[in-house]
Amino acid sequence: MWYFTPYILLPLAAVLLALGAMRLAWPYRRLPVAKVFLGLMFSTIWWSMCHALELSNATIAGKVLLSNIQYISVVSVPLLWLLFALCYTDRAHLLPRSVLYSLILLQSGFLIGAWTNGWHRLMWPRVELTYTAGGLWVLTEPHGPLWYASVLSAYAMVFAGTVLMINQAIRSQSLYRAQAISLVVGALLPWAASMLFVTGLSPIPFVDPTPVAFALGGLAFTVAMQRYRALDLLPAARERIVDQMPDAIIVLDMHDRIIDLNPAAQAILSATTDVLGKSLARVAPPWLIEQVRDRYEGQFEVQQTGETGTTTYDLRCTTLRDRDGSPAGRIFVLRDITLFKQAAQALQEAKEAAEAASQAKSAFLSMMSHELRTPLTAILGYSEFLREDLLNRDLHSLTSDLDRIITAGRHLLTLINDILDYARLEANAVTIHPEPVHMSTLINEVVMTLQGLAKQGQNTITVTVEPDLPPVLADPVRLRQVLLNLVGNACKFTGQGEIRVHCYRSTTAEIQIDVSDTGIGIAADQLQHLFKPFVQVDNGPTRRYGGTGLGLAICQRLCQVMGGAILVTSEPGRGSTFSVRLPITGVPSAPCEVSQEDG
Ligand code: ADP
Repeated sequence: MWYFTPYILLPLAAVLLALGAMRLAWPYRRLPVAKVFLGLMFSTIWWSMCHALELSNATIAGKVLLSNIQYISVVSVPLLWLLFALCYTDRAHLLPRSVLYSLILLQSGFLIGAWTNGWHRLMWPRVELTYTAGGLWVLTEPHGPLWYASVLSAYAMVFAGTVLMINQAIRSQSLYRAQAISLVVGALLPWAASMLFVTGLSPIPFVDPTPVAFALGGLAFTVAMQRYRALDLLPAARERIVDQMPDAIIVLDMHDRIIDLNPAAQAILSATTDVLGKSLARVAPPWLIEQVRDRYEGQFEVQQTGETGTTTYDLRCTTLRDRDGSPAGRIFVLRDITLFKQAAQALQEAKEAAEAASQAKSAFLSMMSHELRTPLTAILGYSEFLREDLLNRDLHSLTSDLDRIITAGRHLLTLINDILDYARLEANAVTIHPEPVHMSTLINEVVMTLQGLAKQGQNTITVTVEPDLPPVLADPVRLRQVLLNLVGNACKFTGQGEIRVHCYRSTTAEIQIDVSDTGIGIAADQLQHLFKPFVQVDNGPTRRYGGTGLGLAICQRLCQVMGGAILVTSEPGRGSTFSVRLPITGVPSAPCEVSQEDG
C-alpha cells in the first residue's frame, strides 16, 4: 500500500522551503500582510505533504482520498496568493468584502466538487491507477468541466496577484530594484510551474511542481523583505510616507541624474513633467544646483531669495553606497525652516532686550543705592555725633528724637545695602575670595552676634558642630552674611522657642549647615517663592517683623557663587529648617570678573 519513491523528494523540499519562509516571516506575524503570507506558506506545506503522501500510496482509494485532502490547499493557495498581493501592494481596498466572500464560496464549491466527484464525475470523469515506467503508481484522471472551471478560477486569481506584484515592482524606484526583481521572480514562478504541469511539459512528470514554486517564491519574498525590512515598511507604505512628507527628498545617481524624488521636491524644482532620469542641472533652479554641488555629506543651512521673500532650508546630504561600500549616489533632504529661524531670531532679540533691560535696572539700582548711601551715612554720622554731644551736655530729654532718627536711618541703610548687594549679584559684579573656613569658629561668631536678638524673642540658640570637620572653601565674609541672615530670620520668626545650628558632613565632598527653628513656619505653596527677591510670606502677619524680602535671594545667590546651594523645609506653626551646602574642596562655580568695591 505504501512505498518509497524518490519523486516525493521534490514536494518534501517544498515543505522545507515553505517552513524556512515561515520562520523568516514569523517575527512579523502581527502584521496583516505577514498573517496572509504565513497562511499561504501553510497551505503550500499542506499541498506538498498531501502530494508526497499521495505519490507514496499505491491504492486507488488512498490516492483519491489524499488528492481530495490536497484539494483543500489547491483551492486556497490561489486565493491566499491574491490576498497576499493585495496586502503587500497596499491595495486591499480593491477587493470588497462581498467579492472576497464570493471567491471563498466559489473555491469551496470546487472543493465540494472534488470531494463528491464519485457521484457526478464532473471533476474527473474517470479515475484509474497506472503503474509507470519510473516505478510510480499514479492516478490518471482525464479532466472534466468542473476541473477546467476550477483551474480557470485559480489562474484568474494568481494572474491578478501577479499583475499587482509586477506593477508594484515597476513603480518601485531604483533603490528597491533588487526587491522588485525578487517580487517578479516570486510572482512568476508558481505561474510557470503550474503551466508546465498542466500542459504536461514538466521535466518531472507526475509530480506537481506548483507547491514547490509557491514555496520558492515565498522564500524569495521573505529574503527580499528581510533585506529591505519591507515587512516593517512595505514599499507601498514607504511611498505613502515619503510622498506625504513636507520635507523635499531628492535622490541622485553618480551622474547627478534624479532617480527618486517626492512631491515636495517636485514643488521646489517647479517640475511639471516627469523629471525622473533627467540631470539635476537641467531641471533644478540655479540656487539648488549651486547648493548641492560638491556636497556629499553633512548638514547645511541654505537660503533662497525669491519673489515671495527669503526661504531658509536645512539641507542634509548623505552619500548612498552600494553593498561594496563604493558611492552609488547622493540623497538630499531639504526642510523649510524659515518660520523656525524667524521665531529663533525673535526669541534672541527678546532675550537681548530683556538682558539689556535687566542690566539697565541693575545699573540704576546700583547707582541709586550708592547715591542714597552717601548722604545717609552722613545723616547717621552727624545724628550720632549730635547724640553724643547732647548726652555730654546732660540734655537727655532731647536724645529720644535723635534715637528715632538713628533707628530709622540704620533701617534705611540696611535696606539700601541689601538692594546694592542684590543688584551687584544680579549683574555678576561680585567677586568672592574663597579660602578654607573653619565652620565652628564662624558659627560661634554669628551666634554671639545674634545672642541679643535671640534674647529679645526669648529664644535659645544651640550649636552642634561635628568634630574634626575639614574646612569649607568659601568667602568667610559672604558666608558670615548668609548665616547672619538665616539665624537672624530664625530669631525674628520664632518666639519663646529654640533655634538650632547643626553643622556636619553630608557627603564626602560637602558640608551642610542646618539652621532650624520652632517658629511660625512657612506654608508649602510659599516655599518655592521664598528665594525670589522682595518676597515676604503673607504680607499681613510677617510685615510686623520688618525686612525687605531680599535677604534669602541674596543668600541663595551667594551660596551659588560659592559653589554651594541653599534649601528649605518647613511646616506652618512648627518651624523651618534652612540648609546651606558648601563644597569642602573645589572652586566656586561662577567666579565674577568685576571686583567689589564698597562705596
Ligand atoms: P526679610 O528681609 O523680609 O526677612 P528674607 O528674604 O530673609 O527677607 O525672607 C523672606 C521671607 O521669608 C520673610 O519675610 C519671611 O516671611 C520668610 N522667612 C524667612 N525665614 C523664615 C523663618 N525662619 N521662619 C519663617 N519665615 C521665614
